[in-house]
Amino acid sequence: MGVRQELSRRGFVGGVAAALGSLGLGSGATAWAERALRNGLAPAGPGGREPRQDPYDSFAKLAFNENPYGPSDAVLEAMTHGFRYANRYAYPDGGIEDAIAEHHGVGRAHILMGAGSGEILEVVGLTFLQGGRKVVGTEPSYTQVYRHATSIRADAILVPLLEDYRQDIPALIRAVRANHRDVGFVYLCNPNNPTGRVVTAQEVRALLDGIPADVPVLIDEAYHHYVEDPAYATSVPYALEGRPVIVARTFSKIHGLAGMRLGYGIAPPELVRRMRPYATGTINASVKWGGAAALRDVEAQERVRRLTLELRRQTTSGLEALGYRVIPSEASFFMVDVRRPVQPVIEEFRKRGVLVGRPFPPLLQHLRVSIGTADEMRRFMDAFREIFNPVETASG
Ligand code: PLP
Repeated sequence: MGVRQELSRRGFVGGVAAALGSLGLGSGATAWAERALRNGLAPAGPGGREPRQDPYDSFAKLAFNENPYGPSDAVLEAMTHGFRYANRYAYPDGGIEDAIAEHHGVGRAHILMGAGSGEILEVVGLTFLQGGRKVVGTEPSYTQVYRHATSIRADAILVPLLEDYRQDIPALIRAVRANHRDVGFVYLCNPNNPTGRVVTAQEVRALLDGIPADVPVLIDEAYHHYVEDPAYATSVPYALEGRPVIVARTFSKIHGLAGMRLGYGIAPPELVRRMRPYATGTINASVKWGGAAALRDVEAQERVRRLTLELRRQTTSGLEALGYRVIPSEASFFMVDVRRPVQPVIEEFRKRGVLVGRPFPPLLQHLRVSIGTADEMRRFMDAFREIFNPVETASG
């Protein structure tokens, strides 16, 4: 590593400490975040050598709603242990399924494991969209479900958001009823990606009670851990009641394991049996150990949550102070109305070393921004001020 890079890395980590200090998160959180970032930036390579640097590393990565701090120390340790089985097919797996079962108070028969929750979303499509059936959902939402439906020659019935960017539950109910014979399943992303808005517990119940009892509902709770709204609740209890509900959860967000691929679905055993033939079952040894440790490391989850929510508050208030409207978010990202076509704005950010979310039609003047580290959010705000110059900002 060159001297300049080494110096800039030191300066960067120092800047992070200062930024975290200014958030009033205390020296414990600061020391933890510094260490996490150092791990992320420069993990020891084989034989203690510095790893190769990639141009990717220099970007502020605010495009994919990842956890910028990575796995906790306990999770790294567990994953390192899991590597001892890298050459095996059948091996002790760290008790990952038991850990999930215990975490939710469900039996193992309720659990379907996936290489990321993305696999669960696709398995639901493969299972329930056979014979030209359709998925009913909201637009915009997490598009993987609809793209996958298209790739298996199925179709989607998409309902627009309400004016306040919340999901329109009565319209979803009407769409399911009107197309009952053709509906394979309903997709509900809660909180919704890309808006960050939640569907309340009462609304989820209204949806389940309002549609024919045999229609499966896939409820994607990827951002569950970040929600503060007391009107929100997980939908796992419905799966336990035996309703045709599949709740998808991921280790990619609060647990910081996106690159390692681990997720799962919770559903009534009968639905799990129907879905299982479509799952690959190819989860790596290391992340099984890491996942079990991550569920136990409640302190690490709380740290990531606190930091993320604090940085979200700080960034969104900064944008509002500049006169820009932000959709109130309950997740690890938010959308800001940039009042002009978003695609060229995304390119302007990229030129300044900041990666932000792609366009989400039909919200083509909204920019989705993931919450990164304090330093990444500072780089975002600097770029924002530069792109939306003061003249435009002042005129509101
Ligand atoms: N669901 C939602 C709403 C997401 O935003 C994502 C990833 O961004 C996923 C599912 C898939 O995550 P993974 O496959 O990494 O578990």
